[in-house]
Amino acid sequence: MSIQSFIPPQRTLMGPGPSDVSPQVLSALSRPTIGHLDPLFVGMMDEVKSLLQYAFQTENEFTIALSAPGSAGMEACFVNLVTSNDTVVVCRNGVFGARMIENVKRIGAKVVVVDGTWGRAVDPQMLEECLQQYPQAKFVAFVHAETSTGALSDAKTLCEIAKKYDCLTIVDAVTSLGGVELRVDDWGIDAVYSGSQKCLSCVPGLSPVSFSEQAVEVIKSRKTPVPSWFLDQSLVMEYWSGQGKRSYHHTAPVNSLYALHESLLMLKSEGLENSWVRHQLQHQKLAVGLNELGINFIVPENERLPQLNTVAIPQGIDDVKVRQYLLQEYNLEIGAGLGQFSGEAWRIGLMGYAARSENVALCIAALKDALAQK
Ligand SMILES: *Cc1c(COP(=O)(O)O)cnc(C)c1O
Repeated sequence: MSIQSFIPPQRTLMGPGPSDVSPQVLSALSRPTIGHLDPLFVGMMDEVKSLLQYAFQTENEFTIALSAPGSAGMEACFVNLVTSNDTVVVCRNGVFGARMIENVKRIGAKVVVVDGTWGRAVDPQMLEECLQQYPQAKFVAFVHAETSTGALSDAKTLCEIAKKYDCLTIVDAVTSLGGVELRVDDWGIDAVYSGSQKCLSCVPGLSPVSFSEQAVEVIKSRKTPVPSWFLDQSLVMEYWSGQGKRSYHHTAPVNSLYALHESLLMLKSEGLENSWVRHQLQHQKLAVGLNELGINFIVPENERLPQLNTVAIPQGIDDVKVRQYLLQEYNLEIGAGLGQFSGEAWRIGLMGYAARSENVALCIAALKDALAQK
């Protein structure tokens, strides 16, 4: 057997992530690698920080990209903020809320779960009732855009309720960042994490995070060390902070950060609001096409994510066969159902660079063909 260079096919990625990466971002990725403490690279990292502040709509000083995927951003928020004496309210309406619960349990803290319905937004009233019942709660955590179900929760209202009960908020914005309205400062989000490979349309493997001043205070006043050395944000903070005192913590993924810089620059030049509108318009186009094919959405209209469309697999249609056909005949990837929706739903992503008219047209035409196959 002779192993040769791996040349991947040119796919169109319309699943739950990674999303299509633009040629512009891929080209940034292939620029020469320089040292991660090179003054020019340090300058670029500072620009990444300020571009991320724009994307998150925050002035938080502590806004950086962790050198690991979105799941590490999640873990960083929990292990740095939560200690074993704390009570954390977690809203669960899909797979990613369940992972938050797992994080809290492993820290040894008390977790109180607000259990919602799959395919629906988190119910603000249920959160409020829970907080009335557990006045000792210190944190409220929820997923803004549940990629496992396609439901968008009202992050602004949920944060308002959390603040009323003096809780800090931890928000999963992995799929929401860049795709739907997200305002970290205005909404009172204390810790937020995202991923590079969803609506930012960058390569996978980076996790933008941001911590409010209050959250940074909590981290600084910890009495016990953060149980994870790599994710200890007080160490990572020093690595990312400027003023010439940057010291080695780990080797940043230099080229991936070029790519993130480029994708954030594209977001900035399009304009954040314009990007939100584009996702919504493409979602509406897709919905019209799906409707014509007799394919129905699972999530009620006013709770749908434009960037992740969860639809019921029509009666008598073979899930795996259709997805294989799309991949083989059209080089098109759509997502399978996850968790409770496994085998019952498809998840069609319109994330970042994938949220374009040509992708919508391809997806509808390819699905039409696939459904007509016997
Ligand atoms: C994709 C995703 C994650 C996990 O991100 P990874 O980069 O795969 O680790 C977390 N939360 C949500 C809502 C996601 O969609």
